[in-house]
Parts: sequence; C-alpha cells; structure tokens
Amino acid sequence: MLHIGLTGGIGSGKSTVSRRLAELGAVVVDADLIAREVVEPGEPALELIRARFGDEVFTEQGALDRPALGRVVFGDPDALADLEGITHPAIWQRTAERFARARREGTAVGVHDMPLLVEKRMAGEYHLVVVVDTAEEERVRRLVELRGMPEEEARSRIAAQADDAQRRAVADVLLDNNGAPEELLARVDRLWQDRLTPFADNLATLTPVRAPHELHLREPDPEWAGQAERELARLRHRLGPLAVTLDHIGSTAVPMYAKPILDLQVGVASLDDADSVDFRAAMDEGGYPRRDHVTEDVAKDGAVWPKRYHLGCDPAVPIHVHVREVGSPGWRWALLFRDWLRADEAGRADYRAEKDRLVTQGLTRPDYAEAKEPWFAAADERIEAWATRTGWTAPARGD
Ligand code: ADP
Repeated sequence: MLHIGLTGGIGSGKSTVSRRLAELGAVVVDADLIAREVVEPGEPALELIRARFGDEVFTEQGALDRPALGRVVFGDPDALADLEGITHPAIWQRTAERFARARREGTAVGVHDMPLLVEKRMAGEYHLVVVVDTAEEERVRRLVELRGMPEEEARSRIAAQADDAQRRAVADVLLDNNGAPEELLARVDRLWQDRLTPFADNLATLTPVRAPHELHLREPDPEWAGQAERELARLRHRLGPLAVTLDHIGSTAVPMYAKPILDLQVGVASLDDADSVDFRAAMDEGGYPRRDHVTEDVAKDGAVWPKRYHLGCDPAVPIHVHVREVGSPGWRWALLFRDWLRADEAGRADYRAEKDRLVTQGLTRPDYAEAKEPWFAAADERIEAWATRTGWTAPARGD
C-alpha cells in the first residue's frame, strides 16, 4: 500500500483534500479523529488519565473534560509529557491497526491526515508527503467567515503551528489552494491519476521507474536538493542503522547540467548487510526495488567496484540508489567526484562540454553512460590531485 502523509496549516483546506482522496478510493486515517477516539468512554487510556490527573478532569457523566485537562497541562511541560505518554502510544497503535486493516483489504492508497506531521518530524515515514498550501491571510479569512472562528483564535492557532516554509520543505507535492475549491479538487484528481495511482501500482508489483532512454539534460533545478533531502530522510527511516552514510551524489547533487535523476548513495558497513533479508525488505517496503543484475561498477583502472543498486517507484522522480561499502574505493569516488565538481568551476565546465559533445552524437542513455568513461579516466588524475591539494576526506554523514 502506498502510504501518503497529508498535512497543511489549519484552514488550508486539508480536510477538503482528504475527503476527495477518500472519494477517489483511498483509505484515510484522520489523526484528530483517532486522538479523540482513544479517550472515549471505555478506552484504556481514559483510566490511565484518571489515575494520573484525578476526577477533576472528568465531567459528572464520566467523560473526559477536555477544557479542564487543557488547563492542567497548559504551561506544565511535565504534566503534558505524562498526558502524551498515555495518549500517544494508544494513538500510534490505533493508527497502525487502521493501516494494517486497509492493507489486508487490498487498499492501494492509505492517507494519513496528520496536522502535526511537520511538528512531529514524521515526513520520512511516508512514501510521499502532500501539503496543502494556502496564504495565511486567506486561511484566517476562511476560518473566520466559513468556520465562525474568532480572528484572534485563528491567528494564535496558526502561530502555534509549523510555518509555511517548514511545511514546504517536507512537501513532495504542494497543492495550492488559494483559488477556487474546484481548482483544488481538480489538482487532487490529477495527482491521483498521474502520480498516486501509478506509484501505488509500481509499489505493489515492485516495478522500478527507469529514466527515459532519450537523453534530456537540464539546467540545474533548485528542486533537486530538497527532493534528495526528502528521499534521504525516507531511506534513513527505512534502513535505520543499516545505513551508515546517506548522501546525494551525481550531477544533480552538484548541481549542474544533468539528466534529472536523483542519485543517492547508501553506505553500508558490509555488502552482506545490503544482501540481508532486513535490508531488502526495508527497501521493498520503501519502494526501492533492487536491480539484481547490477552488482558492480567498473573502475577507471579496470578494477571492479562491487555495489548493489536499487531504483525508486515514484513515476515523477527517477531515483537511483547506489549501495556501497563505507570506505570502499567506489563509495569514496562518488563523494570525491561530487565535491570536486562542486569546488572546481573549470572542472564543471569541462564535464558539461563533454556531456554536450555526447548529446550531439545522439546517444541514448546506456551508451551515454559508457561513452563518458574515457573522460572520467582522463579526469581522474586531476581529481586526485585536487583531493591531495585540498586535503579532501570523505564526509561521514550518518545523521
Ligand atoms: P483544514 O482542514 O486545513 O483546517 P478545511 O478543509 O476545513 O481546512 O478548509 C477551511 C475552510 O475553508 C472550510 O470551511 C472549507 O470549506 C473552506 N475552503 C477550503 N478550500 C477553499 C477554497 N479554495 N475556497 C474557499 N473556501 C475553501
């Protein structure tokens, strides 16, 4: 099942989007609803709250008195932590149950409607994060005029949430909702058809997305860095300690004139880890199926540099994941080459000229990769000289 995280500031139109996704066939799990469910009469969490906070936070009918509880935890971090220690496990468990049930029922797309996705740093848990984006003044207006909220409350609620920049940083998809509701719905329908449905199909069948064979090189796209960060966060979440290093490599990492492919490198302690059942299951679940026939790079000196290779399933972004042993020559070279290109303008210009030369020869992608090899071989000495001169060492990024 494709697992989507949906978020947006209060009044942005998130509920409108989640309703539409449900109409289109997604199973939506609403975080606010679950948070209320777990403290309904008869729920185990309720008795734990009574034991910790006493009868004062209950109504005479025995239901939770939310305003009273709010007053107790407001401004008291310890009390709030205790409350969350009770409610959060119940919420996570019920959320997981709902998605597990949807999976058993063969649901293709599960949507977690999660207002606090950014605040709780959950973006890496999802295959895709969708953010509804609406200008603050417009949100205030809608909350006041359509939901009857006092303006002051609308503003203070907005101020208490993550800001637009923080939400945009985790957004794989930004749904603009400054226009008419029909425009928003049309955007959701297009997203469903063009991206979510094929992504879900690819995930279910572990069908990788390959970059097109025709060569389309592009000028650097300011989106590449953010895309890579989000993808690395997903890999970090899926692989945990199996991924010792995680880096954006290749031309899109420089960034420079390139095929729009995200090359990512996962550094493992040993390739045995990359072949382990846990690693492979985590990559499959994350939507990064392995290409079994690719097991090495051939180095410039003819040496064989072993690796494992996975591709992504998102039809919108071709993703190549190179898995190499930390400290191995292939691992080191990928980082060195990137850093040299970042630092050396003349090197970048030469590499670009070589790409242009090959593109005008009308090569398709596999031949292009091979045709670049002599240039790499010739540049190798220059790159190593740069590494020595600058004292370059491979950055270790295990965070
Ligand atoms: P959220 O769930 O993000 O808090 P809602 O989906 O409830 O936001 O939207 C807030 C209010 O604005 C609702 O009354 C909704 O019907 C209305 N709304 C949503 N999108 C638009 C739009 N594009 N134009 C006008 N009103 C809208």
